[in-house]
Amino acid sequence: MKNIEWLYGIALIIVLIIQIVFCFAFKRCAEGKGYYGAKYFWLCFFFGIYGFLYIAALPDNSSGNYQNYHRISSSKLETMVNDDNTSKNNGWRCKKCGKINSFSSVCCKDCGEYK
Ligand SMILES: [Zn+2]
Repeated sequence: MKNIEWLYGIALIIVLIIQIVFCFAFKRCAEGKGYYGAKYFWLCFFFGIYGFLYIAALPDNSSGNYQNYHRISSSKLETMVNDDNTSKNNGWRCKKCGKINSFSSVCCKDCGEYK
């Protein structure tokens, strides 16, 4: 009987991995439409198919927002270079966009990149 319990455990892990892969895929999909942030990942993670449908239904916002996003991150990068000590005192710096995040946050509040 112990073997069957093992199989259930493995099946659960496989399902979880598939879900995470889908969440990342749909987060990328949202980014392609001009929506950035970890919230789209967690939306898919917690709401499953409803999160996927929400992202699929999002209107394309990439034209204006994409440039805006990159303009903002480059200006943030400059401020970051100017006062380098901020990251040591106030939190950790995102390796993707350079945003300073609080120590308590697991991922970047700006772009969703993990610590
Ligand atoms: Zn970031």
